[in-house]
Amino acid sequence: MPSPPSPLPPPPERRRFRQRLLTWYRRHGRDLPWRRTDDPYHILVSEIMLQQTQVDRVLPKYAEWLDKYPSFQALAEANESDVTSTWYPLGYNIRPRRLHSIAREAVAHYGGQLPADEETLLSFEGIGAYTAGAIRSFAFRQRAAILDTNVARVLFRIFIARGDPKSHAMKKRLWQLSAVLVPVRHVFDFNQALMDFGATVCVARKPKCATCPMAKGCRSYPFVADRPA
Ligand code: SF4
Repeated sequence: MPSPPSPLPPPPERRRFRQRLLTWYRRHGRDLPWRRTDDPYHILVSEIMLQQTQVDRVLPKYAEWLDKYPSFQALAEANESDVTSTWYPLGYNIRPRRLHSIAREAVAHYGGQLPADEETLLSFEGIGAYTAGAIRSFAFRQRAAILDTNVARVLFRIFIARGDPKSHAMKKRLWQLSAVLVPVRHVFDFNQALMDFGATVCVARKPKCATCPMAKGCRSYPFVADRPA
């Protein structure tokens, strides 16, 4: 029988977590170009490029892309073969095609902008729950949760630490956790911090537990790579 879901952390624990994470981010967060904008198009381009691709490979392509296609309108007017060849060598050619189709839909139905509400964002082919949360929190500063691989790993290790992290029930629980943790203020920084923390400290193999600011209270501390979940 599957074990019952672990309880959500009480409000004082949520507050402590937010404070520690934001303090860490203000000192150690990476300065990345998509963190200096709240333009929905720029945010969308970065989010789609970052799917399954490392930041250092995305950086030059992000600049080149925005130079060539500075807006939804410019991208919508480009032809598909030009779009996929500009994407090269990032790979996964489904991604530029999706971006192109989102641009055409944004121009055709939303005046060349992205809508801010979750339901309409999710109606775009190529925008799933994570991307919708990223656009809402980064571009529109709404209190929206995100859950990608890095965030799921961080939240699982810190707050849960047992059970199958890949199960459907766990994913649902992790979304709930992300939703109760996201603060009313500083949403942009908080969600960026969660992703950065997972990419640089609580990494998949060999997380930096010895110097981790979340070690106190982390249910996985110290994380041992081959320990059963
Ligand atoms: S103590 Fe280790 S497992 Fe826990 S959050 Fe920090 S790096 Fe991750």
